Amino acid sequence: MEFELIRQYFEEPFACFNAKHGHTLLRGIGDDCAQLRIPDGHTLYVSSDTSVQGVHFFPDDPPQAISAKALATNLSDLAACGAQPLGFSLNLTLPAPCTESTWMQSFSSGLYQLASAHDCPLVGGDTTRGPCLAVSITVYGHAPKAHHGFHRSLAQVGQDLWVSGVPGLARLGMLCAYQARDRLNELYPQVDHLLQIRALLDGLGPQARALALGAFESPLPRIQLGTALRPLASACMDLSDGLSGDLGHIVAQSGVALHLQSEDLLSSWGNIRQHVNKLEPSVILALALEGGDDYELCFTAWPHHRGEIAQVSKNLQIPLQRVGTVHAGRGVFMHDAAGLQRPVPPVSYNHLANPHHTGEST
Ligand code: ADP
Ligand code: MG
Repeated sequence: MEFELIRQYFEEPFACFNAKHGHTLLRGIGDDCAQLRIPDGHTLYVSSDTSVQGVHFFPDDPPQAISAKALATNLSDLAACGAQPLGFSLNLTLPAPCTESTWMQSFSSGLYQLASAHDCPLVGGDTTRGPCLAVSITVYGHAPKAHHGFHRSLAQVGQDLWVSGVPGLARLGMLCAYQARDRLNELYPQVDHLLQIRALLDGLGPQARALALGAFESPLPRIQLGTALRPLASACMDLSDGLSGDLGHIVAQSGVALHLQSEDLLSSWGNIRQHVNKLEPSVILALALEGGDDYELCFTAWPHHRGEIAQVSKNLQIPLQRVGTVHAGRGVFMHDAAGLQRPVPPVSYNHLANPHHTGEST
């Protein structure tokens, strides 16, 4: 039964696509080990992430969305290192209802769509039964040896700080997803807080809602951006827990201070702002700083690369926004339009509450 399930939903759907990667995928599904060839002159990058039902996704999420997001969050880690995908393995724990064929079919097709879009063959995995669905993925990637891998310790005083996409939009999407399930009270046990968030969400138009839900449910791994930035960026990371917490990693590892400009951060919401015009700037900033699940890239680069970075943004049609600068010192600081500076605490302190659910890896 288990072999049949693996054959039907993973081996066969990926067979043709995997065969096209024969130069790097020497042996795939169906043997004791997968065997991969790393291209000459390249090094290997490896990253794993696990998604568990009820923690990282809703039990009623469509199976194709669960599988695609599980792979997307892994690919995002490769992107953050400037690596290109070589393949991925899939460890699945399946409760009985998930082994049913329509469920497996759509799980498999969501996975295939994203994997093929990013040239990432499925090289193997493990399948077991268990009490709740868990999807654990390991991605393998490669980059030329000369590439420094965007280590978080590489930020230097005088560099610019950039972000891709719309940081915070995915958190707005998560709030919409909770509201649609009538579960906002789990995130906001305090009634006044709950009413405030409800009012905020009720003010969103359908277009804003769709954009936000899209960002939350279907993050786009920025693989192409990561490779294009190899010669331009120094430190880089993907945003999964909100800027305030994530930037703390660059601060700690590079031994620097990061100064954000609130106006620039708001500009990253550029085209979206017309759809969310009822959101106060302070709410947008809180979403970006304290949110999560963005899977956008955040990187530092020297000012003389600004023109080339703008060109990368144009070529790939991915918005890139300069949001701050690297200074001597320690910590994350926000400068407002009036020039006032305040420290940004490393963890969210309840403006939009700290949700128990989704995305935050431990
Ligand atoms: P073994 O007993 O050697 O560990 P398994 O029965 O676990 O082998 O798996 C058989 C083959 O199917 C292996 O090649 C394994 O990599 C592959 N496989 C198992 N589960 C999955 C999965 N969820 N996705 C892709 N390949 C899988
Ligand atoms: Mg096994």
